[in-house]
Amino acid sequence: MRRVSVFGATGSVGVSTLDLLARRDDLKVAVLTGGRNVELLAEQARAHRPELVVTAFEECYRPLKEALANTGIEVAGGPGAVVEAGYREADWVMSAIVGAAGLAPGFAALSQGKTLALANKESLVTAGPLLLAEARTHGATILPVDSEHSAVFQALVGESLEHVETVTLTASGGGLRDWPLEKLALATPEEAGRHPNWDMGQRITIDSASMFNKAMEVIEAHEFFGLLPEQVEVLIHPQSLVHALVAFRDGAVMGHLGAPDMRHPIGYALNWPERGDLPVARLNLAKAGRLDFAEPDLARYPALGLARQVMETGGAAGAVFNAAKEIALDHFIARNIGFLDMAAVVEATLSAYAARHAIGKTPASLDEVLCVDAEARALAGTAATERATARV
Ligand code: NDP
Repeated sequence: MRRVSVFGATGSVGVSTLDLLARRDDLKVAVLTGGRNVELLAEQARAHRPELVVTAFEECYRPLKEALANTGIEVAGGPGAVVEAGYREADWVMSAIVGAAGLAPGFAALSQGKTLALANKESLVTAGPLLLAEARTHGATILPVDSEHSAVFQALVGESLEHVETVTLTASGGGLRDWPLEKLALATPEEAGRHPNWDMGQRITIDSASMFNKAMEVIEAHEFFGLLPEQVEVLIHPQSLVHALVAFRDGAVMGHLGAPDMRHPIGYALNWPERGDLPVARLNLAKAGRLDFAEPDLARYPALGLARQVMETGGAAGAVFNAAKEIALDHFIARNIGFLDMAAVVEATLSAYAARHAIGKTPASLDEVLCVDAEARALAGTAATERATARV
């Protein structure tokens, strides 16, 4: 029986993955990992009967162990235990931990030659070349789970990348899409945290409003598909029904359409290379009525300009960008800085890092990536504090 593991089971992507697994009787769940949501993790473990359940936080180990007493399910705790779990026997692994914590377990899974269904955006943005090299070395497969990348991947089946002219990722524009530019600086975390189409966590929803999420996806596409920076484009598409477009050199454009539901890209990765039935809403274009598209305004979405800069710089720039974006978001949620200050903090961090190091040099190991991440977080903290002080 095919063995599957879910890293980040208690998150939005993890819950959607388990929803699909619950509908299958041909799969055995090997490992589930979560963080602080012990109650949900224990409930998932009782429902899916994995061999091993891991919480990433030491202090959550005891309550998890107690919640699963007498079930016979092995329980472990701490970040090291999550990485260890990546080495457990499994054929298919969902990487849905949020943040840089998702990197090491993903590398562990790849080192075992597994199929890694990759939702964790940070892996490709911070360590793309290393991750792809790890997969190549061990004969492992990476399947993109981000909806836009899954869409591109599907449009490329049977095609050669040589024939691709451009790849367009669509973006809803987020909750502040129709706000006047001058009002954006005043947006609160609650206002930026409402998404018109996708039901996601607060952080990724704010990242959608600022387009930092799309900026990450642009870098991901560049890394994963090996596209030049100028080959990756973004179009605002408020309905979120077209997920990506691939334009070929003969003028043909292949688009991927579907209802906005993460169970589609997750299910595609689970069934790959076949297709199977999935419980997602069917697209009704007559009901949708219209599909709108617009070029994003870079003055409104400076994150997209920064993504271009990161791709052109290469090397450590992706890791610096991701870390700075995380810190800037923390400060925005804490109301220390404004909505538009986030991009200023990331830009300042990229410059500060480049003033200290050869930013275009690619980190040679996962440890080096984590060092870049730590230093960039400290620099971004300083930049955010400066912005916050200037604001008072
Ligand atoms: P969530 O925040 O909903 O869930 C994150 C998961 O990671 C939870 O299981 C959480 O545990 C766990 N976790 C948190 N911190 C740690 C840590 N330090 N170590 C190990 N595990 C940890 O995130 P999403 O599901 O929204 O997103 C997961 C990843 O997928 C992200 O990289 C995101 O960018 C990407 N993605 C998400 C999409 C979406 O629709 N949500 C779409 C495409 C990509 P707990 O909650 O128990 O604390």
